[in-house]
Amino acid sequence: TGRNLRWPDWASLTLGVFVCQACSLLHRSIPHISRVKSVQDTWEDSEVELMAAMGNGAAKAKYEQKVPPFYYRPTHTDCKLLREQWIRAKYERNEFEFIEKQEPYSAGYREGFLWKRGRDNGQFLSRKFVLSEREGALKYFNKQDARDPKAVMKIETLNATFQPAKIGNPCGLQITYLKDNSTRNIFVYHSDAKETVDWFNAIRAARFHYLQVAFPGASDEEVRKMHFDPTRFKKRWFTMDDRRLMYFKDPLDAYARGEVFIGSKENSYTVLAGLPPTTQGYHWNHGITIVTPDRKFLFACETEAEQRDWIAAFQRVINRPMRPQEYAGCYLECWTGADRKADRN
Ligand SMILES: [Zn+2]
Repeated sequence: TGRNLRWPDWASLTLGVFVCQACSLLHRSIPHISRVKSVQDTWEDSEVELMAAMGNGAAKAKYEQKVPPFYYRPTHTDCKLLREQWIRAKYERNEFEFIEKQEPYSAGYREGFLWKRGRDNGQFLSRKFVLSEREGALKYFNKQDARDPKAVMKIETLNATFQPAKIGNPCGLQITYLKDNSTRNIFVYHSDAKETVDWFNAIRAARFHYLQVAFPGASDEEVRKMHFDPTRFKKRWFTMDDRRLMYFKDPLDAYARGEVFIGSKENSYTVLAGLPPTTQGYHWNHGITIVTPDRKFLFACETEAEQRDWIAAFQRVINRPMRPQEYAGCYLECWTGADRKADRN
């Protein structure tokens, strides 16, 4: 029952939400929006009332009421820039309360300059990019007044991921696309964090809208799920400690590369044998899909026996109701549906 880093031990008095330590640090960086206080501190009655008046559930209903289905919601393992921009988009720019503020990434057209890494010398040069849903492509131009684009990347094959370490810039984006049936990459960034995240979400929006047209019967939720499958499988060593599924590059590594919180079926967690049929590069026979309230996690085992054992282990955890102290996920990025208030009562 020990605390962990995700325990919502901090409160934003201005916003009325409880957050974990990692998120409290991000909140501190926008003090004009969020004033953070430890729950361990002495609290005035008025402050307690303030928190009771809002709370995580009500704040989510207010600040996240219109998050577009394609919009990327960061998790705690995402880079700081992406997490900070999520918090700013939500509380500083109120982008998810007012649809007109989503125009930079939802209008279906976007153009601007990005720094692009040269293929040969690795130097970054400013290039004009044009994303057009109508034309079904992202293009870039070597010269500002050039008529012919240097590259045309079809939206149907387009994907963008944040790769700050690989690109050596906190705003580094890797854009992948198919050309002549092979995967190509380009590496770009914008010096402004918001601009970078807007480009990232504009690309996601274009791909989302493309899939909506390609699969007219599918619901938003189904499109979102078939979506930006970053399905490049990597071999990882997994351990499960109570509800925490952790993975390591090597069994002896000191630090997990990531972890997945596994809640209970009452909180909409499910484990399924197999992978979604839309998984790109689908040739994995012993797949496992863990469905969480926020997203799906895809795994593949080498043998059927391993698949069976892991599914049984996940099922046991999912069947077990959560204890109050397990509602520890920080609301901001890994919402588990409960308020800190609930565990005080
Ligand atoms: Zn958090």
